[in-house]
Amino acid sequence: MKAIRVSTPGGPEVLRLEDVAEPAPKAGEAIVKVDAAGINYIDVYQRSGQYKLALPLTLGLEAGGTVTAVASDVTEVRVGDKVAYTGIPGAYAQFAAVPAQRLVTLPSGVSTKQGGAAMLQGLTAHYLACSTYPLKSGDTCLVHAAAGGVGLLLCQIAKMRGARVIGTVSTPDKAKLAREAGAAEVIDYSKQDFEAEVRRLTDGKGLQVVYDAVGKTTFEKGFNCLAPRGMMVLYGQASGPIGPFDPQTLNAKGSLFLTRPSLNHHIVTRAELVQRSNELLGWIRDGKLKVRTEFEFPLKDAAEAHRALEARKTTGKVLLIP
Ligand code: NDP
Repeated sequence: MKAIRVSTPGGPEVLRLEDVAEPAPKAGEAIVKVDAAGINYIDVYQRSGQYKLALPLTLGLEAGGTVTAVASDVTEVRVGDKVAYTGIPGAYAQFAAVPAQRLVTLPSGVSTKQGGAAMLQGLTAHYLACSTYPLKSGDTCLVHAAAGGVGLLLCQIAKMRGARVIGTVSTPDKAKLAREAGAAEVIDYSKQDFEAEVRRLTDGKGLQVVYDAVGKTTFEKGFNCLAPRGMMVLYGQASGPIGPFDPQTLNAKGSLFLTRPSLNHHIVTRAELVQRSNELLGWIRDGKLKVRTEFEFPLKDAAEAHRALEARKTTGKVLLIP
């Protein structure tokens, strides 16, 4: 089968289409014929060596597809089931071996492409808005990179929970998408000072929570946007890692909270994975949550897809189609 392999860390050019052996299921595993593999910013960190992994490897942490084989001890899924998953390496390929415990069966009305597009970024938006800081009516939140993969989903879920959403984006087209996803206000942080704008838009009161996965270029200023006892949720670093941080800042700026969460710790047990996924996929089935999948690339063009993501040219989900 074909797969996108990385043998050495580097730029998008290190993503190579190679022939590898088709996997067979080991104990507890199912084989998924991949219909759509999701591209995520973490793939960039892994490819470039910012996150260190043993190489060579097949990149990709999520997909949607059809079960084609299962080990004899597997009870969670059957051959022919339409499924999706996240958190297991090897999705940029025609087939993937996945622990059956990590698979969720898609509800009827949700396609394998939607499933592959929704799992990583959707479950992230879910835990950020429902668990890390459980948004409620009366809250105002800031969502950085609001037209990105996580961003568009987070705006929608935050609005569903009754919060007022302020989004940041870098272009007018992205501003339009963020508004359509539920942002009441959108700031172009490439032109405007988002700190001053947030102060103005909240009448100087500040925010209950900042969701920041841009990192280097936004992190410090975000603290000045928070109301006393507000929460800074740093969940990524698309513009680069932040420097050292002094906890005294949290005291000086209003008894603030800082957390640096990760999806893995929010879907540790199968029960939690299934509960979050059922809620997320149910919203998609019911039309309450829209997953934007405008950016699709053939598997062989993974490098081009990474270039587009890193150049901030994409919005919503970026998919690879084997
Ligand atoms: P996005 O689709 O959001 O793409 C990244 C966006 O970040 C860009 O479109 C761009 O939007 C913005 N950005 C700002 N500065 C830069 C820069 N210097 N270079 C590139 N992009 C920049 O990606 P994802 O939805 O896949 O991921 C978003 C973030 O969420 C990532 O940091 C990722 O690591 C993180 N994440 C964290 C998880 C967790 O559990 N902790 C799980 C999933 C994702 P604009 O042009 O509008 O500024």
